[in-house]
Amino acid sequence: VTDPLAALRAELGPRLAADPETLHRYGRDSSRAEPEGEAIAVVLAESAADVGAALGWAARTGTPVSVRGGGTGLAGGANAYPGGLVVSLDRMNRILEIDVENRLARVEPGVVTADLDAAAREHGLFYAPDPASAATSTIGGNIATNAGGLRCIAHGVTREAVAELEVVLPDGRVLETGRRTVKDVVGYDLTGLFVGSEGTLGVITAATVRLKPIPPGEPRTFRAGFDSLEAAGAAVIAIALGADRPEILELMDAFSVEMVESFFPSGLAVPRGAMLVGQAVGSDAQRIAEAIVERCVEAGATDSEISTTSSLLEARRLANPALTARGLRLSCDVGVPVAALATMLRGVEAIAARHGRRIATVAHAGDGNLHSAVEAGDSPVETAIAEEMLDEITRLALELGGTISGEHGIGSTKHHELPWQLSATSIDVHRRIKEALDPGGILSPGRAV
Ligand SMILES: Cc1cc2nc3c(=O)[nH]c(=O)nc-3n(C[C@H](O)[C@H](O)[C@H](O)COP(=O)(O)OP(=O)(O)OC[C@H]3O[C@@H](n4cnc5c(N)ncnc54)[C@H](O)[C@@H]3O)c2cc1C
Repeated sequence: VTDPLAALRAELGPRLAADPETLHRYGRDSSRAEPEGEAIAVVLAESAADVGAALGWAARTGTPVSVRGGGTGLAGGANAYPGGLVVSLDRMNRILEIDVENRLARVEPGVVTADLDAAAREHGLFYAPDPASAATSTIGGNIATNAGGLRCIAHGVTREAVAELEVVLPDGRVLETGRRTVKDVVGYDLTGLFVGSEGTLGVITAATVRLKPIPPGEPRTFRAGFDSLEAAGAAVIAIALGADRPEILELMDAFSVEMVESFFPSGLAVPRGAMLVGQAVGSDAQRIAEAIVERCVEAGATDSEISTTSSLLEARRLANPALTARGLRLSCDVGVPVAALATMLRGVEAIAARHGRRIATVAHAGDGNLHSAVEAGDSPVETAIAEEMLDEITRLALELGGTISGEHGIGSTKHHELPWQLSATSIDVHRRIKEALDPGGILSPGRAV
């Protein structure tokens, strides 16, 4: 019997794995999307050359390739294809350089986000993009999904932090994009094209990212409880319009706080409606936190606190694992213009009431980015009801001028929603770009675009 992997094995040796345990371990991401089958092998890439060998073999054999960083994705983008090849970047996890003077870091794609931040902090710098999954997601995955996170209200999304990329294209060529300079307007913005491309256009094998100086002084965290979701939404709008900007501004509805408290008890008071939690930084942090809390009280907050510890934010970071543990895996990632937040939250409550089901909403409130999860049982009927409710939430966000995905990406889970937001012309432009770079359609086929 001939080994279909023989040629690739000859090139990669032990960096090609096909044992059941590895296939299982690298077979899926953290989304609700079930992989449609098992891959034939996993490439545990250690260099761009390994990635090139994998893509070359896949092109010659017509094998679909999924690309995987930390596997924390929530859109099914890194799930294996039946009989496909998984290219994993998790072994390419070296921080190659920290250029303190220019506030840049050169990294391999498998560097864990929190590890880069920690390394930068040793030099008085930090890495601003801060997805709640920072302890397990990778820089390559963050770039491929243009990840958001908690600090976006102050620092923007991952795109803002990417200066240069090295990408292995589906035809095996290595493309360098961007520049280390602050400004660079030469050619099309190819760096921007690959940011958020969800493994469909090329495999990111190195990146130069921007770092920022750690703000002076001690950060302050703050919390404010509200009797209704809508009142919390109104407070967010007031804060967003104000001169005192938080670095983080998150919302958790009563149901999510209840979930976090039941799984990871930390003594958080469960609000009647919702709570806002956030952080202010800089030498002025205490004053900024006080000003923000004052705005919350003006908007109807019934209790509040300011703290020097980060435990309030830890509770927010635990929301996703707590909801997942409770089986609330069916969630969305819609975004609305911030001024529409209160209307959006009222609409989510109305959808829950209409279907007689509970919805847990956590939100990167300062960005108008909501993750609403529907409580549903395991049966297909229950799933269908939950999916219908998520579709209603998504359509409401679009009606309010919003987006179907603020940060998690499209992957396979939201693929059916693409035409709700993008015009036929826009989808055609996406497909032409995809065909130009990946004419054989081997990279993450049928996903994202
Ligand atoms: C508990 C939890 C909290 C989360 N919080 C946030 C949050 O606050 N904000 C947020 O934006 N997301 C969040 N996410 C989602 C997820 O962490 C992000 O999408 C993250 O950027 C994925 O990184 P990863 O390394 O795990 O990528 P993976 O899941 O491995 O892959 C994600 C996508 O990127 C592609 N990809 C990965 N690496 C590369 C590469 N080197 N080259 C090309 N394509 C690549 C994959 O093909 C896939 O399409 C959360 C997830 C969890 C489980």
